[in-house]
Amino acid sequence: MTFTDYLEILKDIVVSTAKGMAITWRTFVKVTTKGAITIQYPEMRDQIPLGSRGLLFNDVEDCISCKQCAAACPVDCIHIEADKKDASVAPDFTKGGVRKTLDLKRFEIDISLCCYCGLCSAACPTDCLYHTKEYEYSVYERDKHIMDYLNYQR
Ligand code: SF4
Ligand code: SF4
Repeated sequence: MTFTDYLEILKDIVVSTAKGMAITWRTFVKVTTKGAITIQYPEMRDQIPLGSRGLLFNDVEDCISCKQCAAACPVDCIHIEADKKDASVAPDFTKGGVRKTLDLKRFEIDISLCCYCGLCSAACPTDCLYHTKEYEYSVYERDKHIMDYLNYQR
């Protein structure tokens, strides 16, 4: 290595350090003059934007077991089981006035597989399946991310 090469490397080091420090100083000035740009989570929480998709919820009272949500799901994380309703039982009607002909026996979503695409809720004819604003539902055991909406407790 010649002395000129050595000087070139030294110049690169000085220039890249100066560039990095310029970003640091710009951010420092911004924070000290305009206030913090981050928030102290979990003591502080930001406003959730309109239309954001959090944890899914199914109001099973209005679910007609049509399975359109499961058919729309690209990752097959919705599991539904239903039996034919007993004909002697008076028919139920859901929010949208849709007759319930099936008895919902199982409605589970494996939230750990969900990609929050919203296709299931868009397909739901009774609007009983929707995204809530809830985003704090980390768990230590993977099984706990299988949401059982017929026995939902949160
Ligand atoms: S939001 Fe989740 S559950 Fe619904 S269709 Fe998309 S991946 Fe499936
Ligand atoms: S699309 Fe809606 S009504 Fe049909 S099974 Fe899914 S949640 Fe129930």
